[in-house]
Amino acid sequence: MYDVIIIGSGISGATFASKISKHAKTLLIEAQDYQKEIPLRTNIFPEHNKPFIKEEIDWDDKTIFPSTHTKSNYMSDEYNGILDSTEFGIPLGNVSYTENLIRKLIDLFEQQSGSFKSSEKISKINRHNDYLELINNKGESYSTKLLVLATGSRGFELQRSLGFGVPDSYTGVYLHLFGEEDKINENLDVNYTFLINPKISQNGPFFFNKGVERVSAGYLGEKGQSKEEIISKLERILKNYKPIQPIVNGLSYNLSNVVVGEISKHPIKKFSSDRVLVLGEAAGIVTSFFYEGLLPGVACADIASNTVKPLFEKGSSFSGAELLKYDQEVKRVLFTYFKNGDALEYLLYNDGSYVKTLWRLYTKLLMENRTCRKYIYEAYINHDLSKHITSNDRYVGEKLFGMLPALSKITLSPRFFRAMLM
Ligand SMILES: Cc1cc2nc3c(=O)[nH]c(=O)nc-3n(C[C@H](O)[C@H](O)[C@H](O)COP(=O)(O)OP(=O)(O)OC[C@H]3O[C@@H](n4cnc5c(N)ncnc54)[C@H](O)[C@@H]3O)c2cc1C
Repeated sequence: MYDVIIIGSGISGATFASKISKHAKTLLIEAQDYQKEIPLRTNIFPEHNKPFIKEEIDWDDKTIFPSTHTKSNYMSDEYNGILDSTEFGIPLGNVSYTENLIRKLIDLFEQQSGSFKSSEKISKINRHNDYLELINNKGESYSTKLLVLATGSRGFELQRSLGFGVPDSYTGVYLHLFGEEDKINENLDVNYTFLINPKISQNGPFFFNKGVERVSAGYLGEKGQSKEEIISKLERILKNYKPIQPIVNGLSYNLSNVVVGEISKHPIKKFSSDRVLVLGEAAGIVTSFFYEGLLPGVACADIASNTVKPLFEKGSSFSGAELLKYDQEVKRVLFTYFKNGDALEYLLYNDGSYVKTLWRLYTKLLMENRTCRKYIYEAYINHDLSKHITSNDRYVGEKLFGMLPALSKITLSPRFFRAMLM
């Protein structure tokens, strides 16, 4: 009998495993073959993630964080809305080689006597009165007092079988481009490029995340397209889309290594029930505009660990009432900040003919208005997101509204008004 079993070793599960294994007999199970390889991922890892992982991970470890994140470009066809942290202070955060981050967390977990099994998929869960029984794809079973689902967008059947809701799912695609460090720096001056063009996706950005000798590129939020269509569209964009040609030129990539996968958002109603917690993307806890999933992954792990540690000490039966504290804390810590993403999603991820113009004005606003840049900078570096200042977001919204042509002001005012109330 385990004290805790965690299904899924992405950022949420691996972080939680590294924290709780100091206090409980823990098993971490991952369906993918991590012995062979943890898939490459080059991600943006803002300063606001740091408090949730600072005890486990060294912020200056260059194998995990090969560079600091100093510049973002909120880019449209016409403008570069550059946010440069040197204008205000410390870096916006780090760029992460997330495969190395996850590897480090698993190593730490194993050093603390945690058991890790990869290439093992859990296919069924049976609830009993005082424990849960998990059955894997080989028909073997494990028992646990507490179960943590950290299955991202790939475990919805399990979630449903335990009575949880599932979030909304979209498709994303990404690919790594490679080159010499100097060539990459010559092509791309910023660490993170976030570009909206409704012809690419109506539900998400096209992005570049810059590492040292690699850059990841892709787009998010596609709905109802086949894998082949999504890959062929990415190829056309990389070859033909004019604004990004200076970035892509001279870098090598292999389209057979494209990754297409689901990304989920819009949090489900409850993240816990008797003896079960749901972490990170599985619960739809991903910001709805920027698709930040690493922040919620480490935050949910930290909050879950702080919730269950005292319960282990007092020999609890992990009732739904006791675990409800986890839901309350996740909402308190993250959801004020999430409002900003909800408002931007409402304004910009839809099929309105105004979207392209509005994004163009947003990038122009960032280019021209220091206060707007400062407010976004402050959100990146804020160590206590429960105190995120929503009136700063409203200020940016009002400035954006002010830039609209007179006629658009009339047609879009109800939409802006609603976004401001979110
Ligand atoms: C293209 C792209 C770029 C992104 N860039 C960023 C970024 O720069 N910054 C950022 O903050 N966020 C980014 N995100 C979002 C972020 O990466 C994810 O939201 C986050 O990694 C989710 O972590 P997770 O641990 O909750 O889930 P996952 O990483 O999906 O991990 C879940 C794990 O559970 C395993 N699993 C599922 N079911 C089972 C089962 N039945 N048995 C055993 N194992 C199982 C899966 O194999 C998987 O490894 C990006 C997302 C995409 C798609």
